[in-house]
Amino acid sequence: MSDKKTALFPGSFDPFTKGHQDIVRRALKLFDEVVIAIGYNSAKSRYFEVEYMVERVKSAFRSNENVSVIVYNELTADLAKKTDAAFLIRGLRNTTDFEYENSISQVNRYLNSELETVFLITSPEYAHISSTIIREVHKYDGDISPFIPYEL
Ligand code: ADP
Repeated sequence: MSDKKTALFPGSFDPFTKGHQDIVRRALKLFDEVVIAIGYNSAKSRYFEVEYMVERVKSAFRSNENVSVIVYNELTADLAKKTDAAFLIRGLRNTTDFEYENSISQVNRYLNSELETVFLITSPEYAHISSTIIREVHKYDGDISPFIPYEL
């Protein structure tokens, strides 16, 4: 393992939002490198195509060489081992997020005892942003540009 502190930020990112971007920016103060890992399961349909989202997220971080974007289709705990990431980053908006994230982090630690999940509490200005709501707005031709950090 290298001395670099690498953190994996896994998620569906369907789509990646300004809330997610805020988590990445803040994580960069704690870690040398952040790998945004877009989970892709071909059995589950996405609203935004995964390759399209990879390109969009890359464009949002093009000036930051410490951020990379990958697609994965395996256990997050295994991906962390492969990418030499000792940390997982997750964002917390509310108690619903907490309940869910608490369970996942316990399972991930069981699967990979070296992996530490680090939770960042959402910034208040992004607390209301959710991918689910953005998809709904977009579906009915609403303008989602205030919620995403790139042009569609
Ligand atoms: P998943 O399907 O794995 O929950 P998401 O793409 O919905 O993936 O979210 C990825 C991570 O980002 C999760 O930890 C989620 O709680 C967090 N997150 C989502 N929206 C926000 C936001 N507005 N502010 C902070 N964290 C967020």
